[in-house]
Amino acid sequence: MVYDIIIVGAGPAGLSSAIFSIYFSKKLGYYPSVLIIDKDEVPGLYKPCGGMVSFEGLKVLGLDKRAFDRLIYGVKIFYRSYGFSVDFGDVIAGNIRREILAKMMLKLLDKFNVDIELGSRVRNIKFENDKVLVKTNNNVFKAKYVIAADGVFSTIRRIIYGNDISDDYLGLAAQLWIEMDHEHIDSIFGNFNYFYYGVEYAPFGYVWIFPHKDFVKFGYGAPKSYIIRHGINLEKHLEKLIKCRTNLRKRLKNGNIIRREGFAVPLTRTIGPLVYRRLLFVGDAARLANPLTGEGIHTALMSGKIAGWTLSKCLSGSGKGCTKIYERIVKQMYWLNQRLSRLIVDMYLRPRKTRVKLDKRRVKILANILTHRKNVLESILSGYS
Ligand SMILES: Cc1cc2nc3c(=O)[nH]c(=O)nc-3n(C[C@H](O)[C@H](O)[C@H](O)COP(=O)(O)OP(=O)(O)OC[C@H]3O[C@@H](n4cnc5c(N)ncnc54)[C@H](O)[C@@H]3O)c2cc1C
Repeated sequence: MVYDIIIVGAGPAGLSSAIFSIYFSKKLGYYPSVLIIDKDEVPGLYKPCGGMVSFEGLKVLGLDKRAFDRLIYGVKIFYRSYGFSVDFGDVIAGNIRREILAKMMLKLLDKFNVDIELGSRVRNIKFENDKVLVKTNNNVFKAKYVIAADGVFSTIRRIIYGNDISDDYLGLAAQLWIEMDHEHIDSIFGNFNYFYYGVEYAPFGYVWIFPHKDFVKFGYGAPKSYIIRHGINLEKHLEKLIKCRTNLRKRLKNGNIIRREGFAVPLTRTIGPLVYRRLLFVGDAARLANPLTGEGIHTALMSGKIAGWTLSKCLSGSGKGCTKIYERIVKQMYWLNQRLSRLIVDMYLRPRKTRVKLDKRRVKILANILTHRKNVLESILSGYS
């Protein structure tokens, strides 16, 4: 059988691609055959992630807010001895467990006739005239189009372009899940996500605390090149912070570490390449996470939506080169954002520049970017108005 579309990866980018390729194709009167392949048996279960999804991200799929562990109304930003609170007075984001997000998205696919191969790792990909061959550990599948949604260490990307991400553009992060009393989390964190900047907390990156229902996620991320150069052990650094920083000790005391995890996120200045023949890259595989915040769920959902729309057009006969439109739209939407975000990282988070002060105006700009309330340019402009 030749599938219309094979999607490699059942993260937010892959599942969004599946939902929207069917949704838009159906609107054009065509029902595409879709196969999703993921190496994990349970999508999202072991994906290290803070789980903060911006409200804009929620809107892409119209996700049910009740599935979120906690709805977020604002952010608290700490920098050296200063603390700033930005309360937006309304829901601006939600903290969700990744397996729940995956479950909700898979549920949306329930009513469509989609084939799903879980526990299957894609090993190779080959192009044959107007078909693409996708090889897993135990099978070979054929499709007219393929969407690579296989994350930051995308196998497909490596096969086509080699290892094209340098240590400067790869963010590493470690995270502890700290179990706490529900009431304690309510009273200490409420509906705010916490961010810590400055050398005292997070040399070259930032530390976060995202409250969920009965645990908080306490993490630290920074570019790999800085971490290696300065010999930082991310996990030990987090534990040291709890011991040595009084304000963190107070907030996290009596908590039990129930999970330790670490992973990577792309922090690149450029996006893509996004299209290779009959193949589209989405989400982290397309380097779409924000290099300043590491936030990538929103762009994963959006790129999946645009890829789905593009392939619905291709399948309904838009002809040769139809995939190129995907590249144009995504770059138009995110190119400037990506550049400006990376510029801010290079200006403010580089070692010699860490002494740049965060004042109220800069905090407001940062709060808008962190919560995706505005794009980076709008956030900067609104900070000056
Ligand atoms: C510690 C940490 C905290 C983060 N916190 C946040 C946050 O709070 N909010 C936010 O917006 N972003 C956050 N991010 C970033 C976010 O997790 C990613 O940007 C997002 O998951 C990208 O989605 P994706 O679908 O592109 O990739 P992924 O979620 O990585 O999904 C890729 C999928 O592909 C599958 N796969 C990979 N290789 C293969 C293969 N060869 N064959 C078959 N399947 C394969 C994987 O199993 C996985 O299911 C965080 C990242 C880290 C590391």
